[in-house]
Amino acid sequence: MPLVAGDKLGPYEILTPIGAGGMGEVYKGRDTRLNRTIAIKILKAGARERFEREARAISALNHSHICHLHDIGTQDGMDFLVMEYLDGDTLERRLKKGPLPIKQALTHGIEIATALAAAHQAGIVHRDLKPANIMLVKAGAKLLDFGLAKPTIHGAGDSTATLAITSENVLIGTVQYMAPELLEGKDADARSDIFAFGLVLYEMLTGRRAFSGGSVASLMAAILTSETPALTRTQPLAPPELDRIVGKCLEKDPAKRWQSAQDIVWELEWSAEALGRPSAALPSLVSRPRLPWLVAGGALAMFLLLVIAYLFRSPQAQPLRALSIVALPGHSILESVISPDGSRVAFTLLDPSGKRQLCVRPLDSVQHRAIPGTNGASNPFWSPDARYLGFFAQRK
Ligand code: ATP
Repeated sequence: MPLVAGDKLGPYEILTPIGAGGMGEVYKGRDTRLNRTIAIKILKAGARERFEREARAISALNHSHICHLHDIGTQDGMDFLVMEYLDGDTLERRLKKGPLPIKQALTHGIEIATALAAAHQAGIVHRDLKPANIMLVKAGAKLLDFGLAKPTIHGAGDSTATLAITSENVLIGTVQYMAPELLEGKDADARSDIFAFGLVLYEMLTGRRAFSGGSVASLMAAILTSETPALTRTQPLAPPELDRIVGKCLEKDPAKRWQSAQDIVWELEWSAEALGRPSAALPSLVSRPRLPWLVAGGALAMFLLLVIAYLFRSPQAQPLRALSIVALPGHSILESVISPDGSRVAFTLLDPSGKRQLCVRPLDSVQHRAIPGTNGASNPFWSPDARYLGFFAQRK
């Protein structure tokens, strides 16, 4: 029976319902002894025994990015968990609005990986890492349900499986973040969390799921056999090294994945630092009063590049490749430049009102993306490692 405001579970008073998930209903409440706001999760029958040991380990874990478990209890045959109350939204709800800005995705990626590293070191595996189990609050990302949920598609009688059988959609949701070895019926270990982490990071950066399928069977087949599309195809401004970091999380064979979440933390911190360096910030190129130097420097760099390209030109004839960029009626493409790694083309687009904007398109796609903050841009050029795009614009 649902609880109502004023109901008491020992020293805990129910305030309002805040959600319901696979394991039970969640309420906002108050700890009357310590006079603090808490979250109370009422568990489905039989769920408590399954994770009592993990609950003890989790409550001992004090990490700023793991939702703290204060207490577990039973009253009138009802099992409940008492947790830190998190004032925010789940990552799942946030992602319905689209991808996160790259910097924010990296920040949350680092926070989540740090939490995983701490828990793994304490011998606890999450086993159900997914955007619905990550809350975004003022202090950053917080992981819910650590080690408590056990997604399975095998265990008849298990609460998740019973729930799953009732709806194909719920089962798809359960399977979505499962590592290949779990789909094959093996036990979860830290590397299964790393696979799920790769999926979450991919989704934060692109706003899309890495694997999709209209049915449980096709989704499972995709996780077991398909490669995820490169991040930079859907998110052209993502630093290319993120493809490698996510790709290594998503290796089918756990032995080929990152073996520790701490390694991922270091890799992501490095990428975040590189992203934060002034040379990486596109607008800073035009915000400084150095346009004449940039023009001269750009022309010199272009000349040197041409000389190097001429000196190292291949003696064999290269196959001719054709690329067409089709603009909407009334729009024109003014300048275009292919990235040195041959993966993308950048061009300036002139719209019917005379506004110029910089756009980027992967060569294997017909979709381009306008880059915000590039009004009036001209003469785009790539850095030699194809990570940054520069352009010229009049100072306002
Ligand atoms: P599942 O149990 O299948 O993983 P779930 O993760 O969606 O499902 P719960 O963890 O039971 O569900 O949480 C349900 C909802 O309650 C969450 O979506 C979140 O909005 C809210 N919630 C859960 N824990 C807290 C908390 N500690 N503080 C604030 N809100 C919470």
